[in-house]
Amino acid sequence: MWAWLSTSTPVGRLRFVTDAEGARSSLEREHASLRQQMAELDINDEAGDYDDNFADTAQVAAEQGEARAIFRSLQAELADVESALQRLDAGTYGLCEKCSAPIGEARLEAMPAARYCINCAD
Ligand SMILES: [Zn+2]
Repeated sequence: MWAWLSTSTPVGRLRFVTDAEGARSSLEREHASLRQQMAELDINDEAGDYDDNFADTAQVAAEQGEARAIFRSLQAELADVESALQRLDAGTYGLCEKCSAPIGEARLEAMPAARYCINCAD
């Protein structure tokens, strides 16, 4: 009566990512481009690590604030990309970080660094 067990071995259960190497190369391109943009902003990532004497006009202060805000968002994207590359190495790429469901190929193609499936996003 337990014969059905023999046909339910989970072979290939993790083969849901059909193009892991394609994902890796887009993530690596994204990583390089983010690093480049961050280098161009030329900000030391140490809060308050600039000379207050340079911020002597509202204009300069505003520009610094804006550059920092852009830097922070690039930094967050970079963290997502790095985390996705780590998941590729660990073999868990393409799985939602919240519910572990497959994220879905269309979503991954649009956002190779997506951490969450469509249900868990937002
Ligand atoms: Zn999810």
